[in-house]
Amino acid sequence: MTTAATRLNRRLEKTVLGRATRDGDGVKLTRVLTSDLQQRLDPFLMLDQFGSDDPKDYGGGFPDHPHRGFETVTYMIAGRMRHKDSAGHEGLLQNGGVQWMTAGRGVIHSEMPEQEAGVMEGFQLWLNLPARDKMCAPGYRDIQSEDIPEVRPSPGVQVRVISGVCHGTAGAVHRPADAFPTDPLYLDIHFEQDAEFVHPLAADFNAFVYTYRGQVKIVENMGTLATVDLHHMGVLRNEGEQVHMQARAGTRVLLIAGRPLRQPIAQYGPFVMNTRAELMQAVEDFNTGRLGT
Ligand code: FE
Repeated sequence: MTTAATRLNRRLEKTVLGRATRDGDGVKLTRVLTSDLQQRLDPFLMLDQFGSDDPKDYGGGFPDHPHRGFETVTYMIAGRMRHKDSAGHEGLLQNGGVQWMTAGRGVIHSEMPEQEAGVMEGFQLWLNLPARDKMCAPGYRDIQSEDIPEVRPSPGVQVRVISGVCHGTAGAVHRPADAFPTDPLYLDIHFEQDAEFVHPLAADFNAFVYTYRGQVKIVENMGTLATVDLHHMGVLRNEGEQVHMQARAGTRVLLIAGRPLRQPIAQYGPFVMNTRAELMQAVEDFNTGRLGT
């Protein structure tokens, strides 16, 4: 039997510092996963972090805009954001909650802050859909913070399981792998004390960590340590059977992994399809009012 101690650890391939940018109506963001990494981190297309206590940085929000061909997963660490979309869904995303939206053939939605002061902090991840599902019916789930399962896999470590399975605990979103072949793992890992965390990862899954508090060490084989500093993404090599982390008290990291789709990626802004013709169709559908209706 293979135990955690004898499994091969994944090594760190590279670290990437997020890029400051603005999107929506001037919302200040750090774009962590940029388009040049879409092939490498297939099925993930984008990861943005937003975080500010200055309403000028977030007050404009994201007025009506379209999406087609993928899913958006918004994880709100702090703050309140109201979502409304063309499929008739409306929800309030707040402190610790997740919104999982399947754009499929198309939604037009707005994501607007419902606060005039205080901290707004969170993440938006874009997860690709397989070619066969890009034109599926739109779907939407609001998951309140209390409905996100938490697990304590080792002393001093608390994990919020947004999707996938962590040490036997199924996440808030856990879907059959035949229906959702990307089988995404999305964990928010809090090191409450100086501690270690180990999680199995199939070698074919593309995986990365993102440090949003403190600094995390990736324990490689033979005990070598590789560091992923604050506001850096650490891309994990596709080898080995698990990731092994070590961190000081107060560190928080996301661990995100998924099975690649290995399909062509054609993106034009908020549309992600497989071919240029499909993108042109998306633009035409949007311009003629047929997207999201
Ligand atoms: Fe959006």
